[in-house]
Amino acid sequence: MSTLSAAQVSARRESLVTALISPDLASIVDLVVWVEADADDVTGGAPVAMAASQVGRVRLHTDGRHQVLEGLDPIASEDPMAFLPYDRECDSPGPRTSRDNAYPYAALRILSLFADPSRSPDLAVMHTPAHFFPEQGGHVGEHGSLDVIQSRAPLLLSGRGVPARGIVDAHARLVDVGPTLATLAGVPETDLRDTGGDLLDGRALTAYLGGEPPAAPKVIGILWDGAHCGELLHLAASGELPGIARLIDAGVALRGGAVADFPSVTLTNHTSILTGLGPGRHGVLGNVFYDRATGERVVPNNSETWHRSAEWLRPAVRTVFEMVNSAVTARGSRADLLRSACVNEAVDRGADYSTMAMIRDSGIASGAAGLGDQLPAADISAHLHNSAHLGDAYYSWATQVDDLGLAQMRQLWGSLESAPTLTWWANVVSDAGHHAGGPRSDIARDSLRDCDSRLRSFLEHLDTLGITDQVTFLLTADHGFEKSDPTVTGTWRPALEAQAIPFRDEGPGFIYLLPDPQT
Ligand SMILES: [Zn+2]
Repeated sequence: MSTLSAAQVSARRESLVTALISPDLASIVDLVVWVEADADDVTGGAPVAMAASQVGRVRLHTDGRHQVLEGLDPIASEDPMAFLPYDRECDSPGPRTSRDNAYPYAALRILSLFADPSRSPDLAVMHTPAHFFPEQGGHVGEHGSLDVIQSRAPLLLSGRGVPARGIVDAHARLVDVGPTLATLAGVPETDLRDTGGDLLDGRALTAYLGGEPPAAPKVIGILWDGAHCGELLHLAASGELPGIARLIDAGVALRGGAVADFPSVTLTNHTSILTGLGPGRHGVLGNVFYDRATGERVVPNNSETWHRSAEWLRPAVRTVFEMVNSAVTARGSRADLLRSACVNEAVDRGADYSTMAMIRDSGIASGAAGLGDQLPAADISAHLHNSAHLGDAYYSWATQVDDLGLAQMRQLWGSLESAPTLTWWANVVSDAGHHAGGPRSDIARDSLRDCDSRLRSFLEHLDTLGITDQVTFLLTADHGFEKSDPTVTGTWRPALEAQAIPFRDEGPGFIYLLPDPQT
């Protein structure tokens, strides 16, 4: 197959952009984004981020400048604190156009998505928050956008080495989580780099840390998949999430949470969290993407492929587990003790203990998908607030998986000395609840209550051992959520097909231009 010239790519992309920003599609297409060579750049062609919608077109510079090329700026705001305090989000649930929305770190996040040599699409189409597309895998609650609410994950730090400040008006980025965990676990600042020696994209959040670092740090990172930041803080303040409230009392929570990478989907952001790198450097561009180099369609966020996540990491990646292992070994710790553990998490490379490693070792070809009958029964879960939710197959499976996760956590934490230096604990029922009903729905709130019950159970286990105050906790998520509008349906596919340009659309939303078929 021949490849397209740069001029062909540019012309064809322009045709597709023009089709996508047609007023007919305004209810379902929020923005179209891509990168192109910056004609004004003195070096003659550094990539620059572009965004367009039916209202106009803008060139986005990393210094924050917006160069409006046509009409109105479709990215009216990049404010990471938009729709705060939380009442503002609740009072304006949408539908929103891009002019009433905010897209934090737009240029940086778009540039990262398009920085992979063979996996980046030629353009990315963003669904409007209202778009409901069940026939293409969409749910009542969705995420994936560059927008602030779908990109806003909670961020709490608590316990040993974290001065108690309560809720502060600040934000961070999810790429900061890995470097922060590594720093807490004793990784020297000079070692927060990739295998090529380059600095990570994220930075350790040292402004929230204090005191002398312990000689043998014990750090637990907790992820509640898709846990909505505003809801989490609101329910904690209302007394509905006592476990979260306890962590906040003994630490700090950022009201603006942590901004996800783009797209704000699960595997991209789990990887960003646990590597400190954006997708353009770690290589996991989406939950589904195409690799031109191998001709492969990659679907990393699937119960059949989670245990294979390391296969898609680019060579320069170091996971936080690998960073922590090196630091613990360099300190001369006992070789028989676990340095790092990774519970119910796909991105596990290097962890001394890992759920996914057990799945790999089991040799079950279908991965976690083949383990169903080995999981604890959902209907007897001690942490389930409403058994009616088990009618949702994802919620039911997530309940089983999360109970197994808690059992692994108790086992790993038999004593302070034997516990890993870094433990990562992913929970998934929060994602199931928010997909099923959208934020603020009963099922979403119950999913947070279920997660909190497991968290409290684990904290009580540490209390019984008398070691809770020896541990540093970080709690986060991989993305936020918005509720779609079931009346806003449709697909942009016919508009693209009408251009008679060969393409593939993965997601949907990642558009790859394809060479013309050979005649
Ligand atoms: Zn997720």
